[in-house]
Amino acid sequence: MNKSGNPTSLIMIFGATGDLAKRKLFPSLYRLFEKGSLTDQFAVVGVARRPLTNEEFQTSVKDSVLTALGKDANIDEFVSHFYYHSHDVTDSSSYVTLKTMAAGLDEKYNIGGNRIFYLAMAPEFFGTIALHLKSDGLTDVKGFKRLVIEKPFGHDLESAKELNEQIRTAFSEEEVYRIDHYLGKEMVRNIEVIRFANAIFEPLWNNRYISNIQITSSETLGVEERGRYYETSGALRDMVQNHMMQMVALLAMEPPIRLTDEEIRSEKVKVLRALRMPEGEQIKDYFVRGQYGKGTVNGEELPGYREEQMVNPESNTETYVAAKLMIDNFRWAGVPIYIRTGKRLTTKSTKIVIQFKDIPMNLYYQTDKELNPNLLVIHIQPDEGITLHLNAKKAGQHLDATEVKLSYANSGINGMNTPEAYEKLLDDCMHGDATNFTHWDEVALSWSFVDNISEVWENTKEESYPNYEAGSKGPKAADELLEKDGFFWWPIMELDVDKC
Ligand code: NAP
Repeated sequence: MNKSGNPTSLIMIFGATGDLAKRKLFPSLYRLFEKGSLTDQFAVVGVARRPLTNEEFQTSVKDSVLTALGKDANIDEFVSHFYYHSHDVTDSSSYVTLKTMAAGLDEKYNIGGNRIFYLAMAPEFFGTIALHLKSDGLTDVKGFKRLVIEKPFGHDLESAKELNEQIRTAFSEEEVYRIDHYLGKEMVRNIEVIRFANAIFEPLWNNRYISNIQITSSETLGVEERGRYYETSGALRDMVQNHMMQMVALLAMEPPIRLTDEEIRSEKVKVLRALRMPEGEQIKDYFVRGQYGKGTVNGEELPGYREEQMVNPESNTETYVAAKLMIDNFRWAGVPIYIRTGKRLTTKSTKIVIQFKDIPMNLYYQTDKELNPNLLVIHIQPDEGITLHLNAKKAGQHLDATEVKLSYANSGINGMNTPEAYEKLLDDCMHGDATNFTHWDEVALSWSFVDNISEVWENTKEESYPNYEAGSKGPKAADELLEKDGFFWWPIMELDVDKC
């Protein structure tokens, strides 16, 4: 920390010419700089193989800030803190130069030996880089050292363990910041506040009053040019193992005794440990997989997954997953948590719907239909907010009720200032706050849950693929998953904040 209480740090970005660095990291650092969270005592070293001068690198940082944010006030001052080192991370000799460069910048900007190593590169390099950082002395500093790692953290439990062992030779668990950018999203962070800062929700937050929970994270895009990666991943590994399981844990955990990262994590871990693990044939009763075929959206013909670049024409990879998760503990026994996520769907949206149980006896009716259950909807993206669906008396009618919605839309108040997920996560990391990063225990538990399903899926070809059209709502089997329990997916588009 410097005198103003802001952290000082030398940030090394491995993969600084890549997509993530340009689209997310540089604009987020710029916003922190603009807000004064980054003072003069910082420097950024970009690392990648292609040869660039410092000036060329600074120009690319300027371009990415302007493209992402449409503004560039004080940009020259900002980019003057950026340096470039051309370096193949598999080449041992090059780390020595990097070390000398880091030491010089540390002194020049009076950073006090605080270092953040951000690995914005393909995961196969993570272990090598971590080992070199230690063996070549880059982690030998008098300040803090922190390692930020992008997803995917391993491909399954086995590979995640191997990777973890490699990085733990150079960094302690407290020094590892595993990014799950969903945990940086404003409304995901809000789940805890909604639950634990409102006396009206927590008493109802259990199997006596909640009938089911639905979490949807849908995308309209296909795999684009990520076909090669996606073929080895699929929706289960790409979305469920991390983002979806994290949201489940936040929704279902017990109140932590304090808001520290250890206490929150320990409650989240208990949820993951209580997840019912379906085996073999039972998996069909809990999980649905899908793969998109061709479709037409707004007059444009879209290819099926198997026609995408670098995708096997007979691919068995799922681009959609729906699941019914059961948490076998006292609070949640009997309450299904339905999740669904997929590509090439009708709408881009992430929402959580908490459906409360019906009241014991209906005294009022809505014209033509049953009274609606109460819903609490948490809008994660693109709209951010909360909506509470209630029933109230219809004006002028005798005993008729009508649905009313109480809405809070984040965008209406401070949407323009809503920090981007990466901005918050970078800021947290500089302050040493690991609350919104995933701990190894969570990673290991969620992999062991997901491995159980993917092992079966990989060994059984899904004959129905492709089983949903591009631009549709997903496979029919996902609807049936809820129908057999007497529920249905709440139509996502009708729940949008601006429709309320
Ligand atoms: P990318 O565009 O392919 O960038 C890869 C970077 O690594 C480039 O800067 C490349 O630069 C560098 N690189 C490759 N091999 C290297 C080597 N041997 N030595 C040194 N540098 C090397 O990838 P990305 O999309 O930015 O993704 C980076 C990581 O973030 C991945 O783990 C990805 O899964 C994760 N991620 C990305 C996003 C996203 O929005 N892009 C979102 C979530 C997670 P040179 O070619 O110049 O070496």
